[in-house]
Amino acid sequence: MNKNRKYLVTAALPYANNFIHIGHIAGAYLPPDIFVRYKRLIGEDVIFISGSDEHGTAIEMASITEKISPREIIDRYHFANQKAFKDLGINFDIYSRTSNKIHHETAQEFFLNIFNKNILIEKTEKQLFSEKENRFLADRFVTGTCPVCGYEEARGDECPNCGSNLSPLELINPRSKITGDIPLVKESTHFYFPLGDFQNDLSDWLNGKKGWKQNVINYCKGWLKAGLRDRAISRDLDWGVKIPLKGYDGKVIYVWFEAPIGYISATKELFIERNEPEKWKDYWQNKDTKLIHFIGKDNIVFHSIIFPAMLMAHGDYILPDNVPANEFMNIGGEKLSKSKGNGILVKDITEKFSPDVIRYTLSSNFPETKDSEFTWKDLQVKNNSELAGILGNFVNRTVVFAKNKFDNKIPDLNKLSPADEVIFNYFKSQSGKLDELYDSFRFREALHNTMDCARAANKYFNDNEPWKSVKTDPEKCGSVIRVCLELCHSIAILINPFLPFTSEKILRILNVTDKDLKWQNIGKTVLVTGNSLGENMILFPQIEDSEIQKLEQQLEDGESVKSAPTHKALPQGIITVEDFKKVSLKVARVIECVPVPKSKKLLKLKLKIGDSEKQIVSGISEYYKPDELIGKLIVVVNNLVPSKLMGVDSDGMLLAAKLNGELRIVTIDGDIETGADVN
Ligand SMILES: [Zn+2]
Repeated sequence: MNKNRKYLVTAALPYANNFIHIGHIAGAYLPPDIFVRYKRLIGEDVIFISGSDEHGTAIEMASITEKISPREIIDRYHFANQKAFKDLGINFDIYSRTSNKIHHETAQEFFLNIFNKNILIEKTEKQLFSEKENRFLADRFVTGTCPVCGYEEARGDECPNCGSNLSPLELINPRSKITGDIPLVKESTHFYFPLGDFQNDLSDWLNGKKGWKQNVINYCKGWLKAGLRDRAISRDLDWGVKIPLKGYDGKVIYVWFEAPIGYISATKELFIERNEPEKWKDYWQNKDTKLIHFIGKDNIVFHSIIFPAMLMAHGDYILPDNVPANEFMNIGGEKLSKSKGNGILVKDITEKFSPDVIRYTLSSNFPETKDSEFTWKDLQVKNNSELAGILGNFVNRTVVFAKNKFDNKIPDLNKLSPADEVIFNYFKSQSGKLDELYDSFRFREALHNTMDCARAANKYFNDNEPWKSVKTDPEKCGSVIRVCLELCHSIAILINPFLPFTSEKILRILNVTDKDLKWQNIGKTVLVTGNSLGENMILFPQIEDSEIQKLEQQLEDGESVKSAPTHKALPQGIITVEDFKKVSLKVARVIECVPVPKSKKLLKLKLKIGDSEKQIVSGISEYYKPDELIGKLIVVVNNLVPSKLMGVDSDGMLLAAKLNGELRIVTIDGDIETGADVN
């Protein structure tokens, strides 16, 4: 193991138009978090980078459909996903965003670098142009009739009915998806990256790779065999990184090209935050750094072929050392792909279960070599039989014994018995095996081997029967319990990559800091005789059948597998800004006010709101005389469904505060034009 080696670990940049689900976590986020935590335990220099991918047609399209700005879309998903990762203990050094200024600058520098080397190809091509919008239409912004099957709502890039790949010019009766406008055909220029020019270099580079997963190698070979072609790297969009050249207004760098550069921008940002603005170069421009991209299989081509070719073209950066892509984790047989938007969302599952139970269930079933499946039943079994039954049980029985028989203190350890030697050596040898498994990204097996240590610890406890020796040979009993407490500490180290929250809890139970939480301490004695233990706690409460049955039913009904709109996912009583903005509150002046005949409570008010007037009826006559209100500036809800009160039309509602039989209407402090928005 080379101690001077640096690791630059990245996790795929999630696209900021959806909430993260557990399939994403099992594919590209939990594996690198485990890897990074392990590397830190052995004392290696590692940084862990990710962030939101925030440009592209899908986000611009969503902003048009939802009638809000792209910024509002990306904010919604960026912050929610950042929190979801944090709640699961996915511990990035930085979770950045490609909408940040530093990314725009870095991506533009990258583009100019290869543009100035004359690597890029400029092509003039026919493209659809909307006169109404005064812009060229990117493929997703065009709809029309599919030339293959006749489906009338085909998209400019593909037909959702027959699955044909299309180009906008092939569509019959093309229309702008935004305005319905019939576009013209005009000539437009676009930049292309000549991927084919890098075919040989990529082949050589990939052939020199050892220790890559077979699925990744096979996938790359398939692409190389088919032959690499030029790829467009510019796009007609408003939302994105602008092409940094004169005469290319309305064009941005294609998102597939700029997004991976986000790894570089995020690293720069991290070290700016740390006040070492040049240090990012120690990672990206240092050939002793191992760059490792963790991704799902849908991203293999970008990270094993396209991005490496881009890095070769630029020339100042290292190439990936490994791309340990995972397959997919399925729920009920359906692929959890982010484009489909189904799956169990992280923000939902973390409300129900502790992060370590989720981490354990996903890790034990990582889709490392083939697709795997998640079930609620499996989560219950993993929690109750393995986490509680083996790991939790060992810690609990040891600590309870120390509490009851040794005054909650750490007993002395005499000379190690042969059995003690055996168990400590077993732990040490397991840690060696684990080194190999971690370095070859075999985390499922690593978890299994980790749990074998907890199994062996339970066996040691049983074989040494401290409940017998406590009566016959208290000193020997003390030694056994001390060994068990030391094993608890070793287990806290061993499980740390997978179960960081539990690891921390065990340290608290042992009443020690994390200063000895180092890989080299596995199978060693580090505790201090006579020190008090902390408070015991149940690490893994049982999960009941009824709870699991409820979740299974929900999954069947499709409830928790759909990507819910934001407001549905929020705690009860909490609304979003969008929710609040649905209410139109306006400043109004009371210009007339009279009682409603035959009513004890109602007043009829005529209001001036900007250029218009409206009438509302309000139940306030017990508190105000009509004359008192005339001339006042008040606040009304201006977009209520009109109603009738005692046969009188009311088109809105005024705001008032009411408590304990007292009522005061909300008025405006000072003067402002009527019709002003209140928000
Ligand atoms: Zn079709």
